[in-house]
Amino acid sequence: HPSAPSLMMNAHFASVGEDASREAYEHGIQVIDEDKIFNENLNIYLAVEKVIPAGFNYHLISVFGSQSTGKSTLLNFLFGTQFGVMSEQERRQTTKGIWMSKNKKEGGGRTMAENILVMDVEGTDGRERGEDQDFERKSALFALATSEVLIINIWEHQVGLYQGANMGLLKTVFEVNMQLFLKDTKSTPRSLLFFVIRDHLGHTPIKNLQNTLLQDMSKLWASISKPAGLETSRIEDYFDFAFAALPHKILQPERFEAEVEKLGSRFREGFNDPKKAGLMDDADLPVFQPQYHRRIPADGFSVYAEGVWDQIVHNKDLDLPTQQELLAQFRCDEISREVLVAFDEKITPLEDKQAKDARSGKPSVIPDLGLAMNAARVKIFKDFETNASRYHKGVYTRKRAELEAKIDTRLKALFHKQLSAAHKAGVESFTNAVSSAVKIGQKKGASYDFAQIVESEKKKALEQFAQDAQSIVVEGAKWSTYVQETTLYKKDLDQVSGRLRKEEMRRLATRVERWVRSRLDESIGLEFNKIGTGRGGSGAPEHGDRPPTEKDLWDRIWKIFTETVMDAEKRFQDRATSFDASADEVEVGLWRLRRKSWGVLRAKIDEEVMEGNILLKLRENFEDKFRYDEAGVPRIWRPTDDIEGMYTKARESTITLIPLLSRFKLVKTSAPPPLDAWIGSAPPSVLPADEEDLAPIGGVDEDEGKSLEEEMTVLSDAKMSDLLVRFKKTADGVYVEAKRSAIGGMTQ
Ligand code: GDP
Ligand code: MG
Repeated sequence: HPSAPSLMMNAHFASVGEDASREAYEHGIQVIDEDKIFNENLNIYLAVEKVIPAGFNYHLISVFGSQSTGKSTLLNFLFGTQFGVMSEQERRQTTKGIWMSKNKKEGGGRTMAENILVMDVEGTDGRERGEDQDFERKSALFALATSEVLIINIWEHQVGLYQGANMGLLKTVFEVNMQLFLKDTKSTPRSLLFFVIRDHLGHTPIKNLQNTLLQDMSKLWASISKPAGLETSRIEDYFDFAFAALPHKILQPERFEAEVEKLGSRFREGFNDPKKAGLMDDADLPVFQPQYHRRIPADGFSVYAEGVWDQIVHNKDLDLPTQQELLAQFRCDEISREVLVAFDEKITPLEDKQAKDARSGKPSVIPDLGLAMNAARVKIFKDFETNASRYHKGVYTRKRAELEAKIDTRLKALFHKQLSAAHKAGVESFTNAVSSAVKIGQKKGASYDFAQIVESEKKKALEQFAQDAQSIVVEGAKWSTYVQETTLYKKDLDQVSGRLRKEEMRRLATRVERWVRSRLDESIGLEFNKIGTGRGGSGAPEHGDRPPTEKDLWDRIWKIFTETVMDAEKRFQDRATSFDASADEVEVGLWRLRRKSWGVLRAKIDEEVMEGNILLKLRENFEDKFRYDEAGVPRIWRPTDDIEGMYTKARESTITLIPLLSRFKLVKTSAPPPLDAWIGSAPPSVLPADEEDLAPIGGVDEDEGKSLEEEMTVLSDAKMSDLLVRFKKTADGVYVEAKRSAIGGMTQ
């Protein structure tokens, strides 16, 4: 675990420095002092000894026994530790409280287990010293709650002394064991009671000593009061037993050392050895069996041990499962904070970037966001799992979920902000792409396919969005979908397309209107010109007694007009349909076209009847009738001609045109053309914007207060009489001239 040691390097340790710490902990660490105070530096010690990253790969042993029975001496020989021992001269207690040291031995020919932690417990034989047994009980509880193996150190000559001091100690051990695991009998871990018989003389075989001890313990077990429900329990339900004997250290030093060496090699890993259960009869069985392990991860050991000790000191019921849950909560929270550091390093800058973009109102798509999010998420869970999964499963699972919720809230925000940036950018580039493609199409002059442009740009935009979104999908995160966002995006593109299509429709409408204008300009102009010929539309010379064909001027104009517009409508419709305009849009467009075309026609008519123009045409009309004969040959006036009669006839004929011109009326109905019906009422889908630039039309727009009659009035009455007067003057002029030329012709 690369990150585990750093997890536990608190400021204190970092400032001490490793070498200095090593020296400081030469004799191990006093976990609990004589005042029953727990040492806050235990974790630092475990870090110095590099036990922290070991996970479950460490072991705890405690040694128990009467004072001055050579316990510390034994540990120092077995594990190369430097626990204080009583000197031969001053015989007083040296070990105070509980000390811990890591194994310093390699284990001779055989490999000892890694990371063995040994606890040397104060001479527990308080009763002999007349002291209170409080500490004995408390340290027994502590050792049992943490240790896999309890070494019971005992003189050979004490074996069988049932009333002896050791029995008192063992009784305490058994009782507190009951108390300890009462709450959770199902998961009660077993412990190994390892009897080490000291100063073994060799007369009594170890087998016999072993049997005696086992019998004593059964008796002892039977004698202790057991909680309800556990009355029938047996000692073997909780303990395994192992035995070893050592020769007298002072009398047989070489043999002592050789036996200790042998004993040391038993402190190795056993892997659920089938022979392990109950009595460890085989003198060579490994002592560390998996079922003895308390399953407290090394990096949580100090917190756990402190919690346990705190409960013991305050005489609370020692509730180990609760302790383990509390530990798990504490450690999982700590690990969460730690793994979040690396996560923050990667993710915070991205969040800052988005926040900055948001402030400036320019959201941008962050490249490789998906990679960063996925990597950070995978890493944080992996780091968390590596360090936290050893703890209480329920707590771990809950804390992992909390962590997940915490980081996913942030990732989700990143995800959605990126989506909305992609959305915004996509809509913008779609709009630009369509507009510029249209512009290029217009420049080329060729008829471009608007619908096709929109379709292909939309396809590109959707693909880009899908790609952007897919690239930030966070694997294993349920929230990381973009179905709804895609729908919204598509909707927006459709809206934009609609807007662009509308603009395109307007452009089309303008083009068609222009076409209508130029067509009407020409054809209506021609119709009015015919007035000047006095021959109406037929081209044939007019006969004086026949009504002038000018009579059907408006019929012709209406016909030309409606045919032209029909032609234009067809053009408009064809084109609009080609770019996917809806039926409604086409309907509105056609309606607008008809109205606008009417405006064009009306303007053209107004232009034609402008004073100068119409007067000129009336004069031409009159002159045509007056100065040409039936065959269309110009008259040469002679004095005998009835100039006056011809003048009057021609003048009256032309004058009849004035009221005819003044009203747009059809011959058949003698009424205005059905403009209102022809334009039709506004389609239901018409929008206020569609009507904004439309001039009102009398008789069509009812609330305009102008009737169809008025709309069709080309010349007002006042204008008409004014025109009449002017025309008469003009005609008179022509007459006078004719008269003059007749006389002149005669005098010549
Ligand atoms: P502890 O109080 O149980 O830790 O005992 P110590 O290790 O401090 O030793 C107490 C005394 O017993 C010291 O003077 C040792 O020299 C002595 N001692 C150590 N090992 C043995 C042994 O195997 N046999 C005998 N008879 N004395 C020992
Ligand atoms: Mg000692």
